Amino acid sequence: MPSLAALLDLTDEEARGQWGRILQRVHRPRQEPYNSVEVVLCCALFRAVDPHRFGGRNIHLIPEEVALLADLFMRSTRSINIKMLNLDGSRPNGAASDVPFYDAMAADHRHFTALYECVVRAARQMGIGPSRLPDFVERDTAGYAVMLGQDRLPQGPLAEAVEVAAAQLRARQLAADDAQTFRVAEQKIRLGQHRFARNVLENYGHQCAFCEFAPRSLPRQKLLIASHIKPWRDSNDVERLDAANGIASCPMHDAAFDVGLITVNGGLRVHRAGSLQHSLTADVGVKHNFGSTLRSTLRLPRRAAPDRTYLAWHHEHIYVDAI
Ligand SMILES: [Zn+2]
Repeated sequence: MPSLAALLDLTDEEARGQWGRILQRVHRPRQEPYNSVEVVLCCALFRAVDPHRFGGRNIHLIPEEVALLADLFMRSTRSINIKMLNLDGSRPNGAASDVPFYDAMAADHRHFTALYECVVRAARQMGIGPSRLPDFVERDTAGYAVMLGQDRLPQGPLAEAVEVAAAQLRARQLAADDAQTFRVAEQKIRLGQHRFARNVLENYGHQCAFCEFAPRSLPRQKLLIASHIKPWRDSNDVERLDAANGIASCPMHDAAFDVGLITVNGGLRVHRAGSLQHSLTADVGVKHNFGSTLRSTLRLPRRAAPDRTYLAWHHEHIYVDAI
């Protein structure tokens, strides 16, 4: 079991050596402790999957990313699930370095990016391609790991949610001090928002559902936003993470939806508020963005269509008119 210092200081050469030993594994299941390469990837996996949603009784709902890592590591998917729960402090009795490492990676995204890059680079050098080890991490223009949709987390409700998550962690976990418990709890919520945004953008094929704006040649520029239909601040824990509570939007239509100038009914028809309708004739810019550019019905997503309950909530509480 690597120490915290060994994890934080992983070098390319060590990573290649560890991959070499992983590739020599032949039997499953194994009791072998997780090495640094595996721990870094389990940390990165949080950006794609929530370990609380596929373990235990839901172990049959294994996300593809987990199945791939399990194959690569010659471990069971259950083992990876448990390792992730140890890392975020949900299970007691993990390795001594698990929670401190997860915490350190949450606090320093540059260090996390560097370690993740080191592990993936070493994997590619050892002949492990993207089909066996896909890239779980979104990056900004400078190549650093980013978490999507963080500006959608309002301060007050976020602080309340962190309090609740920290209390849950404290009830189960003995090792961490208070400051660490709060950081780990906050990271849990931020990762949830990241996965929500990732799922919603993917669900809509990275295209605005209101106008079909699709900045695929300009990825990572925040030109596409995963909007909550029922806002994050008003949603419970399940609603906050539900892809059926999300719509991919360009910034213009996201803002209009957010303040209730447009809404969507149960039949996915897009409605303009009276004031917006009026502006169409008064303002060329408004006409340009909200005239024929705005679809009459929402573009259908690939999987999770918007849930009628969330849509009803939006026209009742956010939309400035009645429909
Ligand atoms: Zn749009």
